[in-house]
Amino acid sequence: MKTIGLLGGMSWESTASYYRALNEGIKQRLGGLHSAKISLVSVDFEEIERLQMSGDWESAGRILAEGASHVEAGGADFLLVCTNTMHKVAEQIQAAINIPLIHIADATALALKADGIKRVGLLGTRFTMEEEFYRGRIRENFGIDVLVPDTESQARISAIIYNELCLGKIDEASRNYYLDAVAQLAERGAEGVILGCTEIALLIQQEHTPIPLYDTTALHAEAALRAALTDD
Ligand code: GLU
Repeated sequence: MKTIGLLGGMSWESTASYYRALNEGIKQRLGGLHSAKISLVSVDFEEIERLQMSGDWESAGRILAEGASHVEAGGADFLLVCTNTMHKVAEQIQAAINIPLIHIADATALALKADGIKRVGLLGTRFTMEEEFYRGRIRENFGIDVLVPDTESQARISAIIYNELCLGKIDEASRNYYLDAVAQLAERGAEGVILGCTEIALLIQQEHTPIPLYDTTALHAEAALRAALTDD
């Protein structure tokens, strides 16, 4: 079994989901007392969030690049950055390490492709929804059309992530708001919706809607499990 590298803390609520999914996945596949081999570095999210809000992605990238090199020094064979948003600086992180980074958008797009999805909706932070680093990668590398909510709705969806989900707060009104956003994307032609923020599955799950949901945390963890159990 290979050692899975995790760069987490963005937020720690979602890193806890990764930690559980990886260990459950190894237990399910190998049985007995098997558990995942993990090298984890967890950052202080307040520091990262301030840099995001001030637009200083270069400094945020530097902190993450340093964290990633510590993950590598801890014995990781490959790296997962446990957030969609901070894949905005994925290249800066990859440049600082000698192990491969498994990109969360690639893990997600492969699942969409396997299901034959041609047009998908995307929920996430406003950075993930409005910028090209994420949806452009899915469109250009996988040929899947990506729809996002309107600007006003993006602002509310993003605020719920930072003000509630990253703090572990689950609110019924916010759940209904997200489910409405999912339904609106489906009405516009989305065949499924990407939960493109690693905390969203804390709020909405497949049981809440008939529209297929693609949980990036679960899909990223699945990709890591496959990589950990495959010999090169
Ligand atoms: N975990 C979130 C994501 O997947 C948001 C936190 C962040 O800004 O990194 O995008």
